[in-house]
Amino acid sequence: MLTRLDKFERYPLTFGPTPIEKLETLSTHLGGDVEIYAKREDCNSGLAFGGNKLRKLEYIVPDAIASGADTLVSIGGVQSNHTRLVAATAAKIGFKCRLVQESWVPHEDAVYDRVGNILLSRVMGADVELVDEGFDIGIRESWENALRDVEAKGGKPYAIPAGASVHKYGGLGFVGFAEEVRDQEAAQGFKFDYIVVCTVTGSTHAGMLVGFAADGRARNVIGIDASGTPEQTKAQVLEIAQNTAKLVELDYKITEDDIILHEDYAYPYYGVPSEETKDAIRTCARLEGMMTDPVYEGKSMQGMMDLVKKGYFPKGSKVLYAHLGGVPAINGYGYTFRNG
Ligand SMILES: *Cc1c(COP(=O)(O)O)cnc(C)c1O
Repeated sequence: MLTRLDKFERYPLTFGPTPIEKLETLSTHLGGDVEIYAKREDCNSGLAFGGNKLRKLEYIVPDAIASGADTLVSIGGVQSNHTRLVAATAAKIGFKCRLVQESWVPHEDAVYDRVGNILLSRVMGADVELVDEGFDIGIRESWENALRDVEAKGGKPYAIPAGASVHKYGGLGFVGFAEEVRDQEAAQGFKFDYIVVCTVTGSTHAGMLVGFAADGRARNVIGIDASGTPEQTKAQVLEIAQNTAKLVELDYKITEDDIILHEDYAYPYYGVPSEETKDAIRTCARLEGMMTDPVYEGKSMQGMMDLVKKGYFPKGSKVLYAHLGGVPAINGYGYTFRNG
């Protein structure tokens, strides 16, 4: 036992271990010196198209139930994947759901607030409130107002911060991801040299860092920033990783140097894809039939492809791309992709 994740209660929201598949055509396309694999967190559940937030929520739900609450309250951008999965989780466990959707993305598409994630959240019965505030991964006043409002109306709110990250148990789910990868490595007879992950609110990266630190691979977790505010994201990854390390009794002190975060791919802005991001989305879709989105995975896909092309990964490396989900958001980019 490398970490003490087993002492925490987990409420199953996912199908179980996610598949790992080789991206053979993409590997060849990028020169063939590096073998690229994808771990399909985007296919992890039957809950509203799944995604990375469910692994986190599996460790948060037992606390929500134990608290005696009846309403999950969370926050994100208009096309937040996280709030969609909080809505699905609330439906599944018989809670109400209150969501604050802020204007984090300076993107104008006629139906941006009508399709994709927000449509799904509404259909699942969440009480959705649109708020005109800009991007920030921290604790927001609008969210605190929503918590107070639920109380004022006689409800018992349970607070889940943006991305389920700055929650005491937010990092645990992706410690589990690392343990799962280790089991899959043992079964397939080889190990991954690098794990590529898209980083914004930080607990996905932080959890992986703790999980892979347990076998000396903390710095093999390669974060690709999609926030456009990398200093804040990096500080949040460090804080969550250190707290999570304590929880699971990790026998290693995580420091700032353990956080590898590439900052070159989030441009021009959180939620707005560059020409290079759009090209990466098309390339991956056309070579592998694997969809990525313009907010998160398109940027980490672009980053991974660029790093491979630049020779960042030594020849012969096996690279595991964590596909964290997020595809429903692409529906809000109908004009961007009107010609494919
Ligand atoms: C939330 C999200 C991320 C970023 O994960 P964090 O834990 O917030 O850093 C990446 N990809 C997708 C699809 C997401 O929904």
